[in-house]
Amino acid sequence: MVQPTGWVEVICGCMFSGKTEELIRRLKRAQLAGQKVAIFKPVIDVRYHLENIVSHNNNHISSTPVQSAKEIIMHAPDHDVIGIDEVQFFDPNIVEVVGWLANHGKRVVVSGLDMDFAAKPFGPMPSIMAVAEFVTKLHAICMKCGNEASYSYRLVRSEETFLLGETEAYEARCRHCYYQSMDERNA
Ligand code: ZN
Repeated sequence: MVQPTGWVEVICGCMFSGKTEELIRRLKRAQLAGQKVAIFKPVIDVRYHLENIVSHNNNHISSTPVQSAKEIIMHAPDHDVIGIDEVQFFDPNIVEVVGWLANHGKRVVVSGLDMDFAAKPFGPMPSIMAVAEFVTKLHAICMKCGNEASYSYRLVRSEETFLLGETEAYEARCRHCYYQSMDERNA
């Protein structure tokens, strides 16, 4: 007999790497298998409809916006699979919340940016990645040279960590092209 058990999956990467599409793919597969799926996102991400997770190809699945990480626990009891999008924007309690859900038998699938625009680990992401059973790092294509990209290069000058509206404000870059432009900017 195999005991039912929870676990944590992380889908991470830079902008334009298809994180939300991959989250939706996994959640839809679970839904097709008859599992009860719930999806949450931080209220800060108001780029698109508040009630829906919308990825860039409009392949959407309905979701619940929440103000804090702890709120997810209140909404979660009846579900087998918990998806969390844009998880990098949550408060630090999200690490404990994700662990709690998995300890209570949930499959937890989170997606988020692993690095911010300054190439620093983004908020709670390193901690969630450390405690997760599975970590998938996706890549975009460098918009300068066509290599595999892991960095989100910000085209506008701003020190704000939360700068949304990604298609105009960011480019996916490989390591070389990211640091080349950062060096030129700081020169
Ligand atoms: Zn490049």
